[in-house]
This record gives sequence, structure tokens and C-alpha cells, in this order.
Amino acid sequence: MPSPEAELRDRIRRDGAVTVADYMEAANAHYYATRDPLGRAGDFITAPEISQMFGELVGIWIVDIWQRAGRPAVHYVELGPGRGTLARDARRVLRGAGLDPVFHLVETSPFLRAAQAETLGKATWHQDLSTVPDDRPLIVVANEFFDALPIRQRDGEGRELLVRLDGERFVRDPARRVVEDSPASAAVAARLADRLRCSGGAALIIDYGHDGDAPGDTLQAVSAHRFADPWQAPGSRDLTAWVDFGALRGAAAGPGLRCFGPVGQGRWLTSLGIEIRAAALAKASPQRVTEIAAARDRLIAPGQMGRLFQVMALVSDGWPDPAGLA
Ligand code: SAH
Repeated sequence: MPSPEAELRDRIRRDGAVTVADYMEAANAHYYATRDPLGRAGDFITAPEISQMFGELVGIWIVDIWQRAGRPAVHYVELGPGRGTLARDARRVLRGAGLDPVFHLVETSPFLRAAQAETLGKATWHQDLSTVPDDRPLIVVANEFFDALPIRQRDGEGRELLVRLDGERFVRDPARRVVEDSPASAAVAARLADRLRCSGGAALIIDYGHDGDAPGDTLQAVSAHRFADPWQAPGSRDLTAWVDFGALRGAAAGPGLRCFGPVGQGRWLTSLGIEIRAAALAKASPQRVTEIAAARDRLIAPGQMGRLFQVMALVSDGWPDPAGLA
């Protein structure tokens, strides 16, 4: 694949400055299409890669709401499933409860689709939500998906900030105050809400972010587990931004759908029983007691992922209130 850096330079020289959203989209499309970014050898680690407990508790959340909905036939849908680890751990719990849906994976990266096939065996892949069938209620999971979608940045006067070239270097317009939003994320949330209204079901959205409190410039790059400069080497480092849960809620809102949360990931995992799960795992593998406790702490401690990461659910009318988000 040609380097996105050279392509972006050519594009800017040819057509002029690009928006931050265009820059982020081009960089991430190349980034995810060409590598497995997860894990120790990669650039960052996500909750399902920290411990099987995460996917299992997502599975418990699904089984709980599905049972109280009357155990209907459903489709499992996951947005940006990474290596498929969360889906695999959740599926074990689902099958244990007698729920064995088709797995629909919305994934644009051919590289990660192959990894998901390896992890999960049978599944169906989609470029976006439009091809996911509408003949059954949907159970949708999105963990660290929205943070990778392109954001728009504007200055305090509402002017969209652009990325230009200074020689070979990418530079973003200077701004004293940066105001972000993500039309791409809002569009996905609106489409997701429509699908839930029409087919019924529930969506679980987990990501790092805030609830509409305008934190300024949150675009960040991560490479080899360290923060890096987002304006260097586009396409070879992961670009993410804080997810605005208030904006997702606003895009999804409307009759026929309720929104729950967001609450901190620590609180949510605790109310779903992470302590009990950790104790059971430790009992089954006494030699791993320290490792299991460390993973639990990493997922729930306020100074780690417990507070910055937020959990929100969208639930169609006719489906019960979800666990842990009251
Ligand atoms: N959910 C996984 C992976 C998070 S990384 C985990 O928690 O480990 C982000 C994921 O979203 C990757 O699988 C990436 O390829 C996918 N992705 C990024 N942009 C996407 C888009 N526009 N449509 C579908 N998938 C996308």
C-alpha cells in the first residue's frame, strides 16, 4: 500500500489544505488496514485485551437484558471488533445461557477481519450498519470504536481548522481555543438508533470520553504505548479523540428509544460483578492471583480505566432497562 503520508502531501499540494477530519480519516484508514495495533507488541491495549473478564461481563450484561426481554432470537453486532477477543469472551457466556446468535462484525480493515476470523471462526462481516439484517432485534457492542472516528475541529469563532504543509511537515491552523465535534460519530449513532427503533434491541457503547463538557483539543496519537505527535507520520500511529457521549445521546435521541448512562466503567463493571468473577478466576488458577487482581484494578480503578472510560446504552422501547446503568 502506498504511504498515506506521501498521498496526503500530494493531495494538499494539489487541492490545498485538508480538514482535521479528512486527515484523521485518511490516517486511520491506512493505520487499521495495515496492522494489528493491539497488545504488547502493538501500539495500545484495550479492555478486552487486558482480561477475559471484560468480554465475559459484557456477555453477562447481554444475557441479562436478553432474558428479561423474553429470550427472543437476536443478531449480535459489534462495531470495530479489533482482534475479536471481546466477541469470543462474550460468546462463551452467551452460549452458556443458551443464546447462540449469528455474529455480525462491522469492520473496515481487511487485516483485522482476518484476525477476527481466526479468533471467532464463523461470523459475517459488514462495511457499515446498512447491510446488517433487520429481521431480528439487535444486540450491539462498540468498545473503543467511536474514539477512532474522525473529528472536526473549529476555533472559538467557528472556523474549521485545516491541516497544511510547511515544507514536508503537516501543521494544523493555530487556534487559541479548539472546539471539537464528530459528525461521523453522530451519523453512526443516529443510524444505530434508527436500526434499534426498527428492529428492537439494545446497544452498549464503551469508550473514553466526556459528557459534553467541551474539553478542547483532545486529538491524540499513540505509538508503541506512548503518546506521539498526531501531526507526524499519519497512518503509522493510532489517532483518537475523546468521545462526546452527550453528542452521541443527542444524535440517537427520539421517540422509541431510551438512553442510559454514561457511567464510569469501574462502577459498571463492579455492579455487574467483576469482584465475583475475579475471585472465581483466582480460585481456578491460584498461580495467577496477582495477575488477575492487577487486571481487575486496571479495568476499574479511578486512576486507570475506571473513570475516564464511560459506558452508555441505547435501548429500544419494548426492551427492559439495562443492568448497571441506572
Ligand atoms: N473493539 C476492539 C478494537 C478497538 S480499535 C477492542 O476493544 O479491542 C478500533 C477498531 O475499529 C478496529 O477494529 C478498527 O479497524 C475499527 N474501525 C475503525 N474505523 C472504523 C470504521 N469507520 N468502520 C468500521 N470499523 C472501524
